[in-house]
Amino acid sequence: MVTEQIIATRGLTKTYGTRRGEISALKEVDLEVGRGTFTCVHGPSGSGKTTLLLAIGGMLRPSSGSVRLLGDDLYAMTPSERARARSDHVGFVFQLFHLVPYLDVLENVRLGGGEASVDAARALLGDLGLSGRETHRPSELSAGERQRVALGRALVRRPALILADEPTGNLDPDSSAEVLRHLSSFCDAGGTVLMVSHGSDADAYSDRVLHLSDGRVTEDAPGALRSDPGRPI
Ligand code: ADP
Ligand code: MG
Repeated sequence: MVTEQIIATRGLTKTYGTRRGEISALKEVDLEVGRGTFTCVHGPSGSGKTTLLLAIGGMLRPSSGSVRLLGDDLYAMTPSERARARSDHVGFVFQLFHLVPYLDVLENVRLGGGEASVDAARALLGDLGLSGRETHRPSELSAGERQRVALGRALVRRPALILADEPTGNLDPDSSAEVLRHLSSFCDAGGTVLMVSHGSDADAYSDRVLHLSDGRVTEDAPGALRSDPGRPI
């Protein structure tokens, strides 16, 4: 069986121009991610993790190279086609949650999908262990609960792909494990997760562990020790 590629980048390169010269954030990244897989990309601060997710999510045009999302070349589209592809297929989760502070939990989740019914959003909150919290504001929740609300917002449109930028970076170990379990069950149901992290807490949930270093991606061989420097992909 041929695995369907949800993401395929070719020669993905991003160079930022700054007053102090050019910064190469991504260098010729070729990355394929198959449907139903959980991939974690490790890398230190400044290694290009956020840049990679933004480019894959259709929010940052590469300097060169291409990004295909479910087979379609994102940056060959018009801006409105790209926005449509993003909202149809991609859910985002961020380290700092990015919830709207003056909306309640149910309203924040419904922001993720215009047509999602109240019942669907309530059911999702139940799955995420947030029943009874629907009318609370984000400020009334723990960090772990806030991130589960953000997961609800990402999941409510039933995207093919979740892009998660250090989603456990601000959470205690128990809350991290809970968020990772929810991401993992999204994969078990056929969803695809690409997350980036500077820590290794997601390794146990991941099908693949990649490393981003100085804008280049390498992959651990299956069963390799974490100290293995990785092989080029
Ligand atoms: P990470 O998420 O791994 O910390 P980033 O993708 O945010 O890394 O950044 C990669 C490199 O690109 C860093 O050197 C960062 O300073 C630089 N960078 C990121 N965004 C911009 C920007 N908008 N303008 C200029 N440089 C940027
Ligand atoms: Mg980042």
